[in-house]
Amino acid sequence: MEKPDSKDIVQGLYLSLLGRAADPEGLKHWVGELENSTIEELGDHFVSSDEFTSSSAAESPESFVRSLYFNLFDRQADKAGLDYWSAKLEQGELDEHQLVTAITQSASEADREAYNAKLAISDYYTDQVTQDAYDPEQPLTISGLHSNDELYAELNRLDSDYDSLALDQVGSSLAGNPLYKAEVGSGERKVMIITQQHGDEPLGTEASLYLLEFLAGDSALAQSIREEVTVTVMPRVNPDGFARWERQESGEQGVLDPRRNEANVDLNRSYDPDEGFDESQAPEAAAVLEVLDAFQPDLLLDYHHQNNYRNDEGSLDTMSIQWPTNPDVDPSVSETGQQAAVAIANSLENFDHDQLTLFPGSENPAIARNGLALDGTPTLLIEQRGLQEMDELALGLDLDYSALASALTLEALISMKGVVSAIADDSFDSLDPALAEQIPERSERIDFADLYGDDAYQPEVQDPAASEELQLVGAQTMEEPTMVEA
Ligand SMILES: [Zn+2]
Repeated sequence: MEKPDSKDIVQGLYLSLLGRAADPEGLKHWVGELENSTIEELGDHFVSSDEFTSSSAAESPESFVRSLYFNLFDRQADKAGLDYWSAKLEQGELDEHQLVTAITQSASEADREAYNAKLAISDYYTDQVTQDAYDPEQPLTISGLHSNDELYAELNRLDSDYDSLALDQVGSSLAGNPLYKAEVGSGERKVMIITQQHGDEPLGTEASLYLLEFLAGDSALAQSIREEVTVTVMPRVNPDGFARWERQESGEQGVLDPRRNEANVDLNRSYDPDEGFDESQAPEAAAVLEVLDAFQPDLLLDYHHQNNYRNDEGSLDTMSIQWPTNPDVDPSVSETGQQAAVAIANSLENFDHDQLTLFPGSENPAIARNGLALDGTPTLLIEQRGLQEMDELALGLDLDYSALASALTLEALISMKGVVSAIADDSFDSLDPALAEQIPERSERIDFADLYGDDAYQPEVQDPAASEELQLVGAQTMEEPTMVEA
């Protein structure tokens, strides 16, 4: 088994025992300490720290186990787990740090993934934040998805908070929900991002809100990007479908497929330039085309979700991408899409919760990826995992989605920022489109039950004394980067 690196170990201690991402100075300090200490000794330091001993986790064995479940897996402890692990602690069979190791080692795949997601988010936060701006209360997971009203409120807040952002209503859905575009920047290069053409594919929308706030903000990087690039975002192109997903999730039966719009149209089958479509049945797609025609973007990114795919090594595909593949698309248009794929691969290189693969592309001219490209707009389709999780949530499955959704939202945000930044600093144009071909094929489809179904509680506790080095599962299961070289 590969030894986890020091950073992962320390970040794991912060997350599990203190419930927060490491602050930059703390991370540096404890990584240094680890050169002359064992992981065990470091764990003892954390457990005897004032921060830990004064926290509610230190009040009783039960409160410690409860806090661990939340810190590690982002969920409430189940009764069996709570009783089992509290007894271990109470009877002195395991100390706090050994308990962390034992719980992570016996976690289900879904729990392990939640933990890995939280670790990756913590790492990202620690890497990005300065010590001065560090916030110990930084949320490491998103709490729920924006409803339509919340989305509109957030867009309006951004519009009033930032002079650099302009919000315009560009249409209405069939059920009368407003469709917006939010525009930031004044640069010559133009990027358009559309999200959630399918109502039950929500995380590109969540990511786009973070992107807009970043781009509209007053950081030096955001200001320099705004000078070079204009970004137009149409978040949640299918609000009616998402509203139906929410109704389904709250128990309503017989709801029309939330993928589709209110007239049962799949919006992402509207874009064949030779066929056209009935705009009265798909005003949402008409609004996309209208914005596109007026804006004339150099690149369009289209965010979706797909099902679950897992490779031979057991890693799940977190994101699959594809450029225009219809043979009648001008090759230079497809090449720009490939460059966007390479920019995304590069941007995700340092994010631990990602596995990027190629979406198996069809030649269908009616999907945005091909149809818009046939009319000359370079496109890239982005499909993140999570669709099946959304479907199961709507069916009433008790599934904790927030850690996974948060990691996927962050992955989407990193991909958006990666493309926009590369265009802003001119590195985009020198990206070799051929490198996109090196992104691996999408993995094998797996059943939902393989991932979540066999979740029976079966703790298999190793004797901690028998393992020479205590390791955190999250660190062990970190996926190898699968990025192309650039
Ligand atoms: Zn979709």
